Amino acid sequence: TAILKTRDVHLSYAKQEALHGVNLDFDDHSITALIGPSGCGKSTFLRCLNRMNDLIPKTTVTGSFQFHGKDIYAPTTNLVELRKQIGMVFQQPNPFPFSVYENVTYGLKLAGHTNRHYLDEQVERSLKQAAVWDETKDALNKNAMSFSGGQQQRICIARLLAVQPDIILLDEPTSALDPISSAQIETTLLALKKTYCIIIVTHNLQQASRIADRTAFMLNGNLIEDDLTSKMFTKP
Ligand code: ADP
Ligand code: ADP
Repeated sequence: TAILKTRDVHLSYAKQEALHGVNLDFDDHSITALIGPSGCGKSTFLRCLNRMNDLIPKTTVTGSFQFHGKDIYAPTTNLVELRKQIGMVFQQPNPFPFSVYENVTYGLKLAGHTNRHYLDEQVERSLKQAAVWDETKDALNKNAMSFSGGQQQRICIARLLAVQPDIILLDEPTSALDPISSAQIETTLLALKKTYCIIIVTHNLQQASRIADRTAFMLNGNLIEDDLTSKMFTKP
């Protein structure tokens, strides 16, 4: 079932319209890949979903974004809460320059959690879900920046999982990684889709065909095709 529905999404930056009426639904427990050439609007559309575009001055968004039946762009939306429920992972791993433990507990502490036992449990759960527990369990006090790129990316995923999101947005999460780390992230995402709704921007068609249930193809700010990945890649 769709937990996020977008209709007639238009977005303009100061000088030009970058999205010209996109309609897409996102199912729970599934991975959707957004593909298309550089500059077609993939990142822009992804950033609409948790209102990261609000941070770019002179940006106008119109259309409907129904998340659990509520409009993401309603004036009453709490942006901190929204970005917890719809978390984002970027192309460059961006852990905070603190320990692994501080990274993963960051959001929980902001939300007022102080119980050490609870925090420890959540750290273990999150790092396990992000498939980076074995590599960090004896090094929770080590600076997150001292890990490899792939480990940093999985620590960032764990940081996001700690606050129990519904939707995970990933903007080319493996383009800065070597093939082995990239494959580990793909395996991690396939395990995570059992629990979450995952939306991934990728320029890598093979990656989409390996992990995505649905693939949406964008061109010049339009959605030109959206189908089951199995159908998308077998069309004549
Ligand atoms: P990607 O294709 O991976 O999104 P880009 O190189 O297009 O990467 O963009 C990198 C960053 O620069 C993004 O945060 C994007 O919002 C910003 N950016 C891209 N195009 C422009 C532009 N014309 N003016 C200002 N910022 C831009
Ligand atoms: P993609 O992710 O598919 O590479 P983007 O969403 O980054 O595409 O960019 C879509 C269009 O919007 C491009 O023309 C890009 O230059 C423009 N753009 C992206 N970010 C910004 C920005 N922050 N300010 C102005 N224009 C931008």
